[in-house]
Amino acid sequence: MPATELDQIVNLAKRRGFVFPSAEIYGGFRSTYDYGPLGSLMLRNVKNEWLRAMVQQRDDVVLIDAAILGPPAVWEASGHLKNFSDPLVDCTNCKQRFREDKLDDPHTCPHCGAKDSFTAARQFNLMFKTQAGPVADAGADAYLRPETAQGMFINFANVLQSSRKRPPFGIAQVGKSFRNEITPQNWIFRTREFEQMELQFFVPPAESAKWYQYWLDERMRWYTDLGIPASLLRLREHGADELSHYSAGTSDVEFAFPWGFDELEGIAQRTDFDLKAHAAASGEKLDYFDQASGERYVPYVVEPAAGATRTMAAFLLAAYDEDEVNGEPRTVLRLHPRLSPYQVAVLPLSKKDTLTPTAHEVRRRLSDRYMVDYDETQAIGRRYRRQDEIGTPLCVTVDFDSLDDRAVTIRDRDTTEQQRVAIDEVVTAVAERLGF
Ligand code: ATP
Repeated sequence: MPATELDQIVNLAKRRGFVFPSAEIYGGFRSTYDYGPLGSLMLRNVKNEWLRAMVQQRDDVVLIDAAILGPPAVWEASGHLKNFSDPLVDCTNCKQRFREDKLDDPHTCPHCGAKDSFTAARQFNLMFKTQAGPVADAGADAYLRPETAQGMFINFANVLQSSRKRPPFGIAQVGKSFRNEITPQNWIFRTREFEQMELQFFVPPAESAKWYQYWLDERMRWYTDLGIPASLLRLREHGADELSHYSAGTSDVEFAFPWGFDELEGIAQRTDFDLKAHAAASGEKLDYFDQASGERYVPYVVEPAAGATRTMAAFLLAAYDEDEVNGEPRTVLRLHPRLSPYQVAVLPLSKKDTLTPTAHEVRRRLSDRYMVDYDETQAIGRRYRRQDEIGTPLCVTVDFDSLDDRAVTIRDRDTTEQQRVAIDEVVTAVAERLGF
């Protein structure tokens, strides 16, 4: 059963080293988080799985890594300076601020309970502004990107010329984005600094609807392939009043969070809004000349835009389970092996020197292919529990017999079954069980 309370995961994540409140020794810093030894590995795996599906396994998508800092011109043209804002209301009673569109009851303050105490909503721009360079004049104004997408649009011509791709083709990017959210909340679900995984897929205008449907299906499949039960996912189409300034149609992939279904990813038909806007503002040609048909056109864009950090929270919540092993309760993260921080743990049965060289030999063999934890502290039962709780799919135990029979025991996280395999075969045996 997945976690029913966010705290089940928040506490586990803190205790085991997935996610820590940032600047905790100074009392924390405004809903920012640091990813610890396990969380940084898992977040990297989430991003790698996205890259594997969206870039590596395809022949029509290329990857870029664009700058986070950008000049006002980019955000002027994209519409973000004018439109990228949320409606902000103040409670006149308790002075707290809220995002009006996220209030459960627009007449009641969720903090102090006052009735009809809100000011009129005003638009609050979510971009972080800063200065580039030592002179603080207007020419030095810069913004931290609030989405990675504009990096793809402003590099469209560069990529087209250098990559030899032609529509339909995509430009992908994974990286940090920043939004000065009015109310960051729900742990790493909504933070001011977060990571996105975005694809801009450029298509002939007439094919836009077809590719939109294609990406809705593909993206839903990505989550279920990585272990989120279909019953915890849904696609929700935006109503006309909800659409972003650039969108002709958007659907969200939503996950059943403990507080209800909420967004993991938006899949939008951005039409030719962005390329046309940047072409007009920059004076550069941002279109495509199809030599076969002799036609010049501005491609339409279908954009699957996901959050890496938010998705990691969903994978953790979905994987959480409690069961019993030999009459004892255990907590287990049933993470997909490609997402778990470690794929294998090597556990020498005892700390005795006689076992160490063999145990390290096994670790070395496996660590060439997999992320391996090596743990020789505490009783073996407690070490299994720890690996179960951090989602490690396989444990390899090195015991005193290993010195004679050159074999080790592989234990499966989900079934807790154990099997003896030769040390010379350990990498193959692990690969067979993991499926990669
Ligand atoms: P929301 O309505 O939740 O504010 P959005 O619709 O503005 O999100 P998009 O602009 O579509 O979000 O961004 C794409 C994805 O980036 C989101 O689906 C989400 O996974 C992620 N994302 C956006 N804002 C945040 C945030 N503040 N913290 C963590 N992830 C975020």
